Amino acid sequence: MEDLEITLPCGFVTKFKEINLMMDMDKFPCPVCKTHFVKTDQCMNMTRNKLVMNKAKMLMDQKSLFESIKNLKVFEDDPKFYIDESFDEIKNQIDLRREEIKLMFNEKVDIYYDDLLKTIDKQKELKLNKFNDKMEKIKSFENDTNNLIIYDDIEIDTKLKLIDYYSKIIKYVTNLAETTVVDLTEASLQFKPLDVDLDIQNVFGKINWQEETKIISVNDQKKTDQEETTFQLVINNFSNFLHARNMVILSKPCIVNNFEWKIQANLVEHENDDTTLGFFLRCDPLISSNVWSVNANVELSI
Ligand SMILES: [Zn+2]
Repeated sequence: MEDLEITLPCGFVTKFKEINLMMDMDKFPCPVCKTHFVKTDQCMNMTRNKLVMNKAKMLMDQKSLFESIKNLKVFEDDPKFYIDESFDEIKNQIDLRREEIKLMFNEKVDIYYDDLLKTIDKQKELKLNKFNDKMEKIKSFENDTNNLIIYDDIEIDTKLKLIDYYSKIIKYVTNLAETTVVDLTEASLQFKPLDVDLDIQNVFGKINWQEETKIISVNDQKKTDQEETTFQLVINNFSNFLHARNMVILSKPCIVNNFEWKIQANLVEHENDDTTLGFFLRCDPLISSNVWSVNANVELSI
């Protein structure tokens, strides 16, 4: 480029590097004659100069294209390697999450298991105490029932009453003895396993589509106390999204009344294998809580 021959309006020829630094000015002193000025536009618009410059530029562009293609050929040898590499990080994160969830789950199961065993041990202890109490009571009644004496010389009425009274005691103690055996040998606890429908997606986490989303807002994004705003989630590569099951696309957050709002889009799969697009407005999507509520008037359009 520097050595290109530029024709001057006065007819002389100079190297491009002689005038290159002066191209920003409207006019420059003629580098050959040094006695007159040359208008920059006029000089560069001369057909011959245009031809020389444009051809040089084209050759430069061509060279850089060849360079790009040469660089691209490095990837052509093993495109799978580079695709794998670009997904390695997310795959590692998912692998890590798998181990994390397993550990967390194991820990929770073990803690819960220990709690259940403690409940059983407590019940066993209570049962033993109850058994000992009852045995003590029965033993004291046993002594009493050995001494149920009905003297011959008491009145018949009193005798009958006494027999009735003793019978009741015998019946009570008999019953106590029987229930003590039942209580001792029958388990007082039951274990009922529940049918589990573990929401693994919510526990494990989802893959989010990492696509640039745009927010077009009529109001000021940074104002946090505004009461109304309009914002838009733009899915740039919709056909990719169609194959992205189990993924959600979230817009950038929009702050309205100090709450963070996002538009979420995801595919909803139906039992008859149909897939539809669902889109939602979410308030503080990172927080899952039902201890507070927000009222909002929302208009979603597609
Ligand atoms: Zn000149």
